[in-house]
Amino acid sequence: MIELTRIAEIRARRDEAFRLGTRIALVPTMGALHDGHITLVQKAATMADEVWASVFVNPTQFGPGEDFERYPRDLETDRARLAASGCTVLFAPTTAEMYPRPPAVALDVPTLSSSLCGAHRPGHFGGVALVVTKLLAICLPQVAVFGAKDWQQAAVVRRLVEDLNLPVSVHVAPTRREADGLAMSSRNSYLSRDDRRAATVLKRALDDGAAAVSAGERSAPTLERCLASRVATEPRARLHYAAAVDPDTLLPRDPVGPRVLLALAVHFGDTRLIDNCLVEVA
Ligand code: AMP
Repeated sequence: MIELTRIAEIRARRDEAFRLGTRIALVPTMGALHDGHITLVQKAATMADEVWASVFVNPTQFGPGEDFERYPRDLETDRARLAASGCTVLFAPTTAEMYPRPPAVALDVPTLSSSLCGAHRPGHFGGVALVVTKLLAICLPQVAVFGAKDWQQAAVVRRLVEDLNLPVSVHVAPTRREADGLAMSSRNSYLSRDDRRAATVLKRALDDGAAAVSAGERSAPTLERCLASRVATEPRARLHYAAAVDPDTLLPRDPVGPRVLLALAVHFGDTRLIDNCLVEVA
């Protein structure tokens, strides 16, 4: 695996790949890699000749008072994990390389950014859209792989790629979980031992919601109450939102359609965790 930090170096490598007909799959990340990220790398390897991963903690997607400064960074471990999982190019630019001056361009997908996390994190998906577009423009991969854990992010990226006719195929891989059901996340490292134990309530709430759908429940507000009431059984958890929405529009749909996305954001102390589950209704 080679590690590049400069856009010009990536471009040269991309030109070479283009000349040789090598297909690239890109896995964009913010580092502090866990097995969920590695699953994306492994999936990417089945979809192209080379897997490139980016590690960049993107400042433009963090709001004031969010965890940009304390976001976990461990490039040495990331490097070893990526090399061991078959990644061929690690792109780890500095902030100055990605943003030599404050960007004047703003990208927004307002229809998909107004609900769920977007309603509580103004500007977040604009920052995601900008950095993903830049990474795609820099690396020009044929395939880009994202995780379903960040469902709204994947929806924004898909729409961005479609509307801007970006020449890349977007693949969304399933959420990888710990043995007790907690979705893997770089932010899990923030959790105290008690909060880590309590955080399993997200998956249990989603399971309750999915079971309610299986039992015939079709009312979105009732499903939301079902999620929220399970979260409320955990005293350490503070619910941010519990939603049952259309998985494509991310907007409320009542009664639910043929597929419903159950989504949660829950605080444990200063740490905000998200999780979701797609349920086939029919
Ligand atoms: P992040 O580094 O958290 O920005 O995530 C980089 C990519 O990994 C995104 O596409 C995430 O959706 C994906 N990802 C994060 N956690 C998981 C997980 N537990 N399972 C699968 N993909 C994940």
